[in-house]
Amino acid sequence: MSKRVLITSRSFGQVSEEPLNIFKENGIEVDFQNDEYNEEKFQSIIGNYDALIIGAHEFSPKAMEKAKKLKIICKHGAGLDNINLEAAKKYNIRVTNVPATNSNAVADLAFGLMLDVARKISFAASRVKDGLWERVIGTDVCYKTLGVIGFGAIAKNVAKRAGGFGMKVLAYDPYVTDLPDGFPHVSLVTFEDVIKQSDFISVHVPLNDATRNLIGREQMEMMKKGAFIINTSRGGIVNEEALYEYLKNGHLAGAGLDVTEKEPPTGSPLLTLDNVTVVPHIGMYSKEAINAVSVICARNVVKMLNNEQPDHIVV
Ligand code: NAD
Repeated sequence: MSKRVLITSRSFGQVSEEPLNIFKENGIEVDFQNDEYNEEKFQSIIGNYDALIIGAHEFSPKAMEKAKKLKIICKHGAGLDNINLEAAKKYNIRVTNVPATNSNAVADLAFGLMLDVARKISFAASRVKDGLWERVIGTDVCYKTLGVIGFGAIAKNVAKRAGGFGMKVLAYDPYVTDLPDGFPHVSLVTFEDVIKQSDFISVHVPLNDATRNLIGREQMEMMKKGAFIINTSRGGIVNEEALYEYLKNGHLAGAGLDVTEKEPPTGSPLLTLDNVTVVPHIGMYSKEAINAVSVICARNVVKMLNNEQPDHIVV
């Protein structure tokens, strides 16, 4: 009987046939459940599959208990906050992710959001479409100070881009003690220094108990008046209630968000503000990144089902 893989990631194989061909060549049957995610439906079918390629939806321990045949969960991306790793270990299910592969795409978006909110590009463009020809005054990005929270794959790529804009970069990452070569414009500093001294703060840490609400009211109060926050990491790291308050009262000049606590952020007061740009979690949605991540996931499924070691094992 042939092996079966379930794909719940929406973007898997969206830009080329290459990843699906890997399954075809290896005689692996493929099913998709990547429309609106439905936990009940997922729990009722997951027991039929040997492998899962998962996007952003929750994989609860309850669903894992039903996944009797499942050998591998491949995260179609880097962030693992939707997968209960302890439960996967308990049920002897391998978990892999695809680190660093999408870091250029996410860094492009983070930098794009920074330019967008600083120069009010989305806001001005929407006014033109409404028939208004109004000059809006923005803020320079070049030569300013960028603070990055976390100094992993994405933050490093954001810092590289910032170098081209003549920016000084302050980075906070308690797990990074030395700067790699090629970052002469970056200094490793304390969390408080990043918060207090940056004109732009870009968030690049995983969501976990230590990072939830990492940037809240207290931090926003300490930020420079007129500073900007960019979050392409995960909703919940920047406290949205506080963000709304500090954008509304003018202490913060703007925010660019690829991620929100609730996605989509229907009804969020942030959507009523002119100085916020929210995009629908498209950080890794470049053709290049999606294809590369899909191919790595497909190869990992094949390796695991052929009793070989997959790449990027997490548990
Ligand atoms: P990475 O693992 O390379 O880097 C994360 C960095 O955060 C590490 O260097 C780590 O030491 C640091 N860190 C961990 N806890 C910290 C803390 N409490 N304070 C400061 N630093 C801390 O990951 P990455 O590839 O750079 O991705 C970062 C995050 O971006 C992911 O965890 C994921 O949530 C998010 N992401 C979003 C998208 C998107 O589509 N928007 C795509 C990929 C990743």
